[in-house]
Amino acid sequence: MGKIKTTIIKVSKQNPEKNLIAKGANIIKSGGLVAFPTETVYGLGADGLNEEAVKKIFLAKGRPQDNPLILHVADKEQVYPLVKSISKEAQRLMESFWPGPLTLLFKRSSLVPNCITAGLDTVAIRMPNHPIALALIQASDVPIAAPSANTSGKPSPTLASHVIEDLNGKIHMIIDGGKTGIGVESTVLDLSGDKPLILRPGGVTLEELREHLPYVEEDLSLIKDDKDIVPKSPGQKYKHYAPKGEMYLFVGSVDNMVQAIEEYANRYIHMGKKVGIMATEETKAKYKEGIILSLGSRENKEEIAQNLFSTLRMFDEKDVDIILAEGIDFKDIGMAIMNRMKKAAGGNIIKV
Ligand code: AMP
Ligand code: MG
Repeated sequence: MGKIKTTIIKVSKQNPEKNLIAKGANIIKSGGLVAFPTETVYGLGADGLNEEAVKKIFLAKGRPQDNPLILHVADKEQVYPLVKSISKEAQRLMESFWPGPLTLLFKRSSLVPNCITAGLDTVAIRMPNHPIALALIQASDVPIAAPSANTSGKPSPTLASHVIEDLNGKIHMIIDGGKTGIGVESTVLDLSGDKPLILRPGGVTLEELREHLPYVEEDLSLIKDDKDIVPKSPGQKYKHYAPKGEMYLFVGSVDNMVQAIEEYANRYIHMGKKVGIMATEETKAKYKEGIILSLGSRENKEEIAQNLFSTLRMFDEKDVDIILAEGIDFKDIGMAIMNRMKKAAGGNIIKV
């Protein structure tokens, strides 16, 4: 892929400037790539109905072809031409959670290019809750295909600087709208089977979904560490969100985690390794050696979600060889946070 000149523009989140949004929309309409903020993470957008444009997303990210993309719409009406039908259940969820971090799977219509769905008969759609994202989709007048705007395998971007780091020279425009809100990606929900299934935990929690869908469960591949269970969401099978350093995720009581991390840190430092510790406000003062970064307070998991990916990238900047990370509890947004941490650790999980 030849080098592309990437235009970087700052746009107001509260009041997206129409003339600037129009520039982004023109790029989308002419088949180019525009990164933009959403309420979850930054997305890398292309015209979702233009096969050639969508292929550029895979190239720029180095994304495997068999990992399907989410289509982003600016209103519910935009869903109809993309799908075979919308069930009552889906309609109710769209009313309750859109705009917001809930992605729903629908049987696709023939309008949706194959490369969006990676050959599956379902298409994933959501309506983001971010003024810039909504303005860009509206002005482009097409559904926008947008995976996270990072190089495949790396932590997702929550700041425009993360996108610049990964994609400068590979895409046409980056819209800088400041820090994203939630910090982890959307929840992917499959309503096509006997039971509603969460294929990827995310910004909408299991507890919130259960208020509307009492029987919703997580896909087995998310619960069991069994390698033989194939995830229904192709993206879940890849190494993901991974920093350059080798990460170990500790799970157990806070005291046990702190003690084990101290022991591991001491051992690795004696081996001459540069060690990072991913701690929390409650524990950060307890460590005596290593590069200690706090994700935020255990009492405020929303804050931890917001800081997770940027903290992983900070460890990269500091060039640590080893990252020792404290786990957090699985309740509410904790489920999405732990899903990302487990993937970042690539299976290095230490129960203490
Ligand atoms: P990203 O936008 O990069 O955060 O990734 C989108 C996620 O949605 C990936 O985990 C995909 O595997 C998942 N996804 C997208 N479309 C489908 C689909 N039709 N069926 C199952 N999972 C999907
Ligand atoms: Mg992604």
